Amino acid sequence: MSKKWNLVVDVDRCNNCRVCFIAVKDEYAGNDFPGYSAAQPAQGHNWLDIERKERGSYPLVEAHFLPVMCNHCDDAPCMKAARDGAVRKRDDGIVIIDPVKAKGQKQIVEACPYGAISWNEEQQLPQAWTFDAHLLDAGWTKTRAEQCCPTDTYRTLKVDDAEMQRIKAEEGLEVLKPELGTRPRVYYKNLHLITHCFVGATVVVDVKGVEECAAGAEVLLKKGGREVGRAVTDTFGEFKIDRLPPNSGDYRLEVRSAAGSFGGDFELGAESRYLGVIRLGTGG
Ligand code: SF4
Ligand code: SF4
Repeated sequence: MSKKWNLVVDVDRCNNCRVCFIAVKDEYAGNDFPGYSAAQPAQGHNWLDIERKERGSYPLVEAHFLPVMCNHCDDAPCMKAARDGAVRKRDDGIVIIDPVKAKGQKQIVEACPYGAISWNEEQQLPQAWTFDAHLLDAGWTKTRAEQCCPTDTYRTLKVDDAEMQRIKAEEGLEVLKPELGTRPRVYYKNLHLITHCFVGATVVVDVKGVEECAAGAEVLLKKGGREVGRAVTDTFGEFKIDRLPPNSGDYRLEVRSAAGSFGGDFELGAESRYLGVIRLGTGG
């Protein structure tokens, strides 16, 4: 089986420094790579972008960042929308929008379900990140984004498809919009930080009339009577249970410690929830 390019992006490592964003601009803005890509305009195109997702509410708030780019799909809608072979899939998995044949084919932009293609108005050309194919063909083993990222968010892998599926299973990697069946070659680690919700709270206990953080309390999360999550409160009495599907409805939370217990119901909507301060032994 032939080896093909894949990109692994670890969402938990990205801190939004945007060095990779600038590196992609530096590589493509004003630079023609015949056979690969025409020059990116100075303004308006983000072939690699960083999206932001905030979760929770004060005091349990976190921000995560999602690098997005062309996914180099194996079943690419942009290819199907192109005429005259203007978008082609290389044997090594990379999807190239031909900078000559694709001229005037604006329908290619609209065909991408990831919004990864920009329209170059001046050149009347659809354009997307080429996986730095011109660099890889010249012997590079990493994309520029990986080369410059200070947190090792990216891993550029050239492996056969069976090996990539093994890595995917082993590391719990996911792709964006898998339900579309586009079979992206860009994989994400810790994608739940973007796609899923957490629930958290601060647990306190009354000690001789003074409220203290209840460290070490056991927290159980149940759905329909079945345990779906478990945590132990930290030094500040806080806990967080993650990877809950958004809009997943009713849950029951149970907290126990030597000082007392608590049980209560809540509903999970589209966003993560901070449930406030839970007072043990008082019924909340
Ligand atoms: S360089 Fe790395 S850490 Fe910085 S924005 Fe890009 S992926 Fe995130
Ligand atoms: S992400 Fe969009 S532009 Fe890239 S291969 Fe898939 S459909 Fe085409």
